[in-house]
Amino acid sequence: MNGYEKTGVLSLNDIRVPSENQLRKGVAIIECVQEIPCNPCAAICPVNAISMKDINSIPIVDFDKCTGCGKCVSICPGLAIFVVKTVDNSKALVTLPYEFLPIPKTGDKVKALNRWGEICGDAEVVRVNMLGKTTVVTIRVDKKLAMEVRNIRV
Ligand code: SF4
Ligand code: SF4
Repeated sequence: MNGYEKTGVLSLNDIRVPSENQLRKGVAIIECVQEIPCNPCAAICPVNAISMKDINSIPIVDFDKCTGCGKCVSICPGLAIFVVKTVDNSKALVTLPYEFLPIPKTGDKVKALNRWGEICGDAEVVRVNMLGKTTVVTIRVDKKLAMEVRNIRV
């Protein structure tokens, strides 16, 4: 049994982690680990960076092809895709799906939450987009949190 099957929460051991270089350009991190019939992420990607053997397969991102555009973030019904981009030696941008109210505004200071829903640091909202039905929020966080922050508390 995988760790997340016991806890219900993914860890870095359960997902593919990009290289430092790939993170510098900004890439999609897909945290979808169960074989379910779903594929809008692969269908919407403009550069065919997401591959699936069939509709039940787990999606795999080609980090070298991915441009970090974020279209897959808003289309995923499982809220399982994030875009992570490191911007310098100390900060990173994390783009995440957000379906709670109130919708944050650019410039808001919010709490960064880890995969367990625990506060793990502070974040600043730098962009809010409605690309589809789901609001997509980009936050600036400490670089060390880039692969840990997966939600915010407004
Ligand atoms: S972020 Fe854009 S380019 Fe990257 S996998 Fe998603 S849709 Fe494709
Ligand atoms: S759209 Fe989301 S839930 Fe569906 S396969 Fe892609 S990552 Fe998984």
